[in-house]
Amino acid sequence: MFGNNKIMKPEIHSGETLDIQEIFPTLQGEGPYTGHPAVFIRLGGCNLACNFCDTEFESYKNYSLSEILDQVQKLAKNSSGRVVRKLIVITGGEPLRQPIEKLCTELVKLNFLVQIETNGTLYRELPAEIKIICSPKSSNGKYHQIRLDLLSRIDAFKFIISKTDKNYQDVAEIGQSQLGTPVYLQPMDEYDDTKNHVNLMYATDLCQKHGYILSIQTHKILQIK
Ligand code: SF4
Repeated sequence: MFGNNKIMKPEIHSGETLDIQEIFPTLQGEGPYTGHPAVFIRLGGCNLACNFCDTEFESYKNYSLSEILDQVQKLAKNSSGRVVRKLIVITGGEPLRQPIEKLCTELVKLNFLVQIETNGTLYRELPAEIKIICSPKSSNGKYHQIRLDLLSRIDAFKFIISKTDKNYQDVAEIGQSQLGTPVYLQPMDEYDDTKNHVNLMYATDLCQKHGYILSIQTHKILQIK
């Protein structure tokens, strides 16, 4: 969190258990599925340490796959037992750091729409149905290389935008134009109303100049998780 987290390497194992920070019901607040009722699975640990990162992902616990699936299916239902959260968002930390192939396969079998939120620096062979949203990360003025094997699987890019942070002042060309991948711009939350407003206006301007799509963190406006 805020660049102070331990950097963790990708894990190699069967994926029968996973380190989970939390599983919770909410609305997807940002990106292409904004507004969709969802169950979030937040995985523990990240292979990067971004200074603006406001997500807690280091106090995770180990869960079996069946425990995760039970919890997700329970949270996806309303009080009458009807599935009202058809979207499952697998996020982190960095979700591709852990072997989530089996989890994804099982969720697809259960007819959920599954969305992965990744920084794009790692790869896993996931079912074709999985939607991959990549938010590229930058340090020292340069974006981390997006895995070439992941690039053609990415359904949308979400670039963080700040008027003053040199790492996030513009959208880098990382393969999106050639592939025609949609690009969303999300103003960076700098925990300062004035700076946030400047970032919002700056991102809005870039969207209108270049045809990008604005992504607002609506869950923060709604004050939900
Ligand atoms: S890649 Fe995402 S989760 Fe990991 S440190 Fe950066 S912003 Fe946080």
